[in-house]
Amino acid sequence: MSARKIISSSHYEVPPTAGLPLRASDLWPGPAALPETVAAQLGTPPLQLECSGTACLLVALMTLMQRQPKRRVVVMPAWTCPLMPIAVHNLGLEIRLCDLKPGHWDMDGQTLEAICDENTLAIMPTHLAGLVADVDAAVRVATKVGAYVIEDAAQALGATDRGRSVGLRGDVGFFSLAAGKGLSIYEGGLLLTRHDDLSEELRRTAEEKVPHRIGWELRRSIELLGLAALYRPRWLGLAYGRALRKHLHEGDSVAAVGDDFPRTIPLHRVGRWRQGVGAHAAARLPAFIQDNRERARQRIGQLRDIEGIEVFDNAPGTEGSWPFLLVRLADAGRCQDALDQLWQAGVGVTRLYVHALPDYAYLADRVPRQATPQASRLAAQTLSISNSRWLQDADFERICSVIRR
Ligand SMILES: *Cc1c(COP(=O)(O)O)cnc(C)c1O
Repeated sequence: MSARKIISSSHYEVPPTAGLPLRASDLWPGPAALPETVAAQLGTPPLQLECSGTACLLVALMTLMQRQPKRRVVVMPAWTCPLMPIAVHNLGLEIRLCDLKPGHWDMDGQTLEAICDENTLAIMPTHLAGLVADVDAAVRVATKVGAYVIEDAAQALGATDRGRSVGLRGDVGFFSLAAGKGLSIYEGGLLLTRHDDLSEELRRTAEEKVPHRIGWELRRSIELLGLAALYRPRWLGLAYGRALRKHLHEGDSVAAVGDDFPRTIPLHRVGRWRQGVGAHAAARLPAFIQDNRERARQRIGQLRDIEGIEVFDNAPGTEGSWPFLLVRLADAGRCQDALDQLWQAGVGVTRLYVHALPDYAYLADRVPRQATPQASRLAAQTLSISNSRWLQDADFERICSVIRR
């Protein structure tokens, strides 16, 4: 693979997503008011902090399983974070994949209707790339078969649907606070629901099932210090770029993108210090999201001028959170050609998920061997461009010119 440098300074590395950079002052101990701060900003009911987005899904599913013990199937899009089927499998539940609308990242409505039945426990519309998914379609099907809707808003903290935060049209929603996902405490997640009774049950589940584990919290605290220190263009080459290039050199794109997740998911409580760090940083969240939106708007305009590609944009009435721009090229070959030039160039261009879920060899024992042709096609045709403010206009223009060719 030819790694052509297209930027002038090889010491700079743009992160693949727009994360909210931490400041030294965030690290001083402060009130552990992270969920309260974010809930006030988003105008949501109280948020429940867990140790990851995936942990939020585990708590949600454990709660819904108690309500509906006979229902065993969780339906999710065939192109999503591999942690989602890993979590579902770890609870002993069955995964059913919904293929996508042709040429689009969201679940196909007709397919969804066809695969849901009285065994469906939950449907997971997913706000991919911080863009708002069609939750209403999932709610319609869920209502018909008696299932719940869990909105995967891991990438969509700050996104809105008809003026309200995502996560409130379904029964449960969750945001991720993992490294690189906007606001981060290295690993964390926020769970929300519009139902008071379910909110109570989610809290009870966490109370019963989520232990204090001092070793995990210590590890995450050190990792958060590392993130605060290294999350800047001068150091990201060390923290992110070096591993990316090594894996690509070895031909392992799954590891390069970080799609190779462990089998087990840690479940523990988040300590007060990390909550305080997150609460400090959250003060800058509204301005950060606004800035992301404005930059995305402008850059989408530039990408629109390129023929033969599609940039995914807001559906009517919705506003994304814009961690990155998701671009579909005409075919898999052109996408790979562009990535050959851009992936290792340090300009924040990468793949979102390398494969559709059935196409990961390492998930073969957990994900059904379903054919999901639309998802497989989209995965091969799509690249992501960082929406970090560190991606400078000149580099963005060079990315556009590579894609144009
Ligand atoms: C990152 C992500 C998750 C998992 O969140 P973690 O906080 O990393 O556990 C789930 N779904 C999507 C779409 C994601 O991008």
